[in-house]
Amino acid sequence: MQAPVPRGGALTVWRGWPSRWAMWTVARRRWIWYAVGCEVLATAVTVAGLVTGFGGPVQFGWFAALVVLGIAQAEMSRRIERLRRWMSGQTHINVTSVWYLAGAFLLPPAWVALLAVVLYLHLWLRVWRNVRTRPAHRFAASTAWAMLSCFAASAVLTIGGPARLDTAYGVGALVLAAAVFELVNVVLVATGIFLYTNSRSPADLVGTWEDNAFELATLCLGGLAALAFVGQPVLVVFVLPPLLLLHRYLLLKQQLQVAAMTDEKTGLLNTAGWHDLATREFTRVSRRGTGSGFAVLMIDLDHFKRINDTYGHLTGDEVLAAVAVTIEGSVRQSDTVGRFGGEEFVVLLPATGGTDVLGIAERIRVAVGDLTVAVGGPVRISGLSVSVGVACYPGAGTTLDEVLRSADAALYRAKDAGRNRVAV
Ligand code: GH3
Ligand code: MG
Ligand code: MG
Repeated sequence: MQAPVPRGGALTVWRGWPSRWAMWTVARRRWIWYAVGCEVLATAVTVAGLVTGFGGPVQFGWFAALVVLGIAQAEMSRRIERLRRWMSGQTHINVTSVWYLAGAFLLPPAWVALLAVVLYLHLWLRVWRNVRTRPAHRFAASTAWAMLSCFAASAVLTIGGPARLDTAYGVGALVLAAAVFELVNVVLVATGIFLYTNSRSPADLVGTWEDNAFELATLCLGGLAALAFVGQPVLVVFVLPPLLLLHRYLLLKQQLQVAAMTDEKTGLLNTAGWHDLATREFTRVSRRGTGSGFAVLMIDLDHFKRINDTYGHLTGDEVLAAVAVTIEGSVRQSDTVGRFGGEEFVVLLPATGGTDVLGIAERIRVAVGDLTVAVGGPVRISGLSVSVGVACYPGAGTTLDEVLRSADAALYRAKDAGRNRVAV
């Protein structure tokens, strides 16, 4: 499962001098070692390759053609790629890999790595630069991993000696090169994600089966592109339409996933989306032992029926949306807010203990109390209030369900005690 729509962690990236890069504060040290190591290795091998075997004009022609095709394809699907980047979770299928396999067959190894650099750089300038959730240090690492995967694919083809694609041996070598490219890329990326997030979930590390099926489809097109290049180069344009459609399908799939997790009235996570995220957090925390827990807030608007009865349901909806914004504004980026249907909200607060959580719950209660909602014309709705039920893991229960029940029971106590208050 992908992460939900990112709430825009504002990561400005190249903040001038290296000492001010976001990487040093955002990434774990072990990830930095790994990423910089891969970047140095990829650069060194590329430079060494360029110095020892520069290739000739024919290779340069292939290289230029692949660059033009890669850039044309990226330009044609720029909007799709930008939307996908916004929505993407940890793993991100990169459709440009279609050109690397053709490159591995046609070009000296260092040129393939250079092709990856050019295509990634283009994507960075035209798409990813504007996506705040994708900081540059992760982009740079992805480029290095793509370069190393290209080298692995080239190595398979080089070790096997020159192969012609009109022979079974040549086609076999191409298939093997594709498999090695994919394997090396998966291992490099999964290691990076593990070191960055500490997640052990296979879906986070290597993507879902479907993600990998898409990667395979991209590589198949890459193989066909290589065949076209060798046989009849003009035919390579036939690879573009299916590639663009594949890309579009990936976006639609992600949009459906996000829509299935989002509450359309408030833009918050819906019950299913919140549960999915909360379950992941619970798994993470319970694996680590009881050292760090999490807290759950169950929030219910008081006498909300009266708003509907006085102003109508549509106005009631506007008030719900305003309360959602207020709750989100009162918690941290890392907290997860959802709407549990009706006028009930739920917040998951990772790594939060008893005393902190009471302060946060109180902050939300006061913020909603201070809220004035303008609902068209001169009408202003104020004087809202919420009751909040609080429960902490592991104190309030040993499963997520128990903690939720406990928060719900606390909410009822807050209601019974007169509303507009926090109960534990
Ligand atoms: P309290 O929780 O303080 O006991 O009183 P309440 O009036 O808020 O409680 P109750 O749970 O009885 O009613 C909730 C109301 O919320 C009923 C329904 O009209 C309204 N409601 C539920 N979902 C929506 C929605 O999506 N939009 C609007 N406008 N109203 C909703
Ligand atoms: Mg209510
Ligand atoms: Mg209710």
